[in-house]
Amino acid sequence: MTTDTLSPAPTTAQSEALFARARAVTPGGVNSPVRAFRSVGGSPRFIREAHGAYLTDADGTRLLDYIGSWGPMILGHDHPAVREAVTSALAGGTSFGAPGEREVRLAEAVTRITGVDRVRFVNSGTEATMSALRLARGATGRKYILKFRGNYHGHADGLLVEAGSGLMTNAGGALGQAAPSSAGVPEEYARLTLVSEYNDPAALDALMQERGVDIAAVIFEPVVGNAGVLIPTPEFLAALHRVREHGALLIADEVMTGFRLSLRGATGLLGLRPDLICWGKIIGGGLPVGAYGGRADVMDHVSPQGPVYQAGTLSGNPLAMAAGLATLEVLEGDPGLYGRLDTYTAQLADGLRAAAREAGVPLSVNRIGSMLTAFHQEAPDGAIRSYADAARSDTAAFAAWFQQMLARGIYWAPSQFESIFVGAAHGDAELEQTLAAARAAYAGLGGQA
Ligand SMILES: *Cc1c(COP(=O)(O)O)cnc(C)c1O
Repeated sequence: MTTDTLSPAPTTAQSEALFARARAVTPGGVNSPVRAFRSVGGSPRFIREAHGAYLTDADGTRLLDYIGSWGPMILGHDHPAVREAVTSALAGGTSFGAPGEREVRLAEAVTRITGVDRVRFVNSGTEATMSALRLARGATGRKYILKFRGNYHGHADGLLVEAGSGLMTNAGGALGQAAPSSAGVPEEYARLTLVSEYNDPAALDALMQERGVDIAAVIFEPVVGNAGVLIPTPEFLAALHRVREHGALLIADEVMTGFRLSLRGATGLLGLRPDLICWGKIIGGGLPVGAYGGRADVMDHVSPQGPVYQAGTLSGNPLAMAAGLATLEVLEGDPGLYGRLDTYTAQLADGLRAAAREAGVPLSVNRIGSMLTAFHQEAPDGAIRSYADAARSDTAAFAAWFQQMLARGIYWAPSQFESIFVGAAHGDAELEQTLAAARAAYAGLGGQA
């Protein structure tokens, strides 16, 4: 199918009505800011249900989904193995506040797959990074942490400093000490977070030279998804591993990349040797799960084994564990899956480049595995490597393109500074549909220029 499928324009009356009701009872009408479509304009689609690669919105319009719940749905929505596991867990009660076998099995799977000795389950990626940092401080007896500009690690106070994702508009400040990205974060907390530039090994080395003895941990996105996709250089990865010479722990935040870029995440794909790894998203198979893990000598500082307190009423929840376990089992049992995701996403990247080129629209695509960002700017492919590079994108051109795609039934991430996610349910028909829409959308944009 190569024809433009724009007409007739689908109605959005139900979504708009729900958004009005939501705004009356929830700040901004959403429970997570990016969902509100603020950076692309218009009313967000309210989603009724999802199967495979498709969402159905409140007006009954089918949308081809490139968000995948922001990463977790790598198998596609409503995967039969996950549904069956959750349904069967459901019949046995939804929460015990006591340990159960599913937690042991998921921990065994995570340690076997990723090579960490110990793992602790929490309920979100935010909790995972927050807990890993407390652990790093407890284990090293140091106060400071170091992160990278435009990396997002959830919304704990000390991490909302030069943060990416929905905070990409609040840039600025010198390296080293930096300002909070959110109201409500005391300067005193932000002061304990040092900031360096992603993919700048010299800046990292210099900061570690100066402040290394005070730094408990360096936390990083091994492939950035939250400034749009940024791919680390080998030189930067080498500098990251040098931070341990200063006694700092290296924390890979694999909340987005874990079980996505390979079964062993970015750590496996890029040959990283972090001290601690944080997970979220895929590890819960679409239910709320986060986790952090690492070597026994570090992890055994965690309570009740050690003095670093961390707890959770619903941690290890049986439904969530069942969904995560079923997801990991499918991923482990299908060795060809990551190759298929890679091939699809590579073709998607090439198709987008060709469509933009043909229409004379500047585009620079960063892509690794099943993660991709199409930056609307002139930079050559692969040249966008930092927050500052990404921030040069034409967000108005992106927003116009996004709306053109949405009108054609393609549900892209509603921000220039996010990754899209391809899942196992995306096949040839979906690729063709997407590229046909992209050609029409770029032709429209090119025509406006
Ligand atoms: C999504 C994300 C988080 C936060 O996870 P939540 O489950 O939303 O709290 C942390 N780090 C990275 C890299 C993420 O992509």
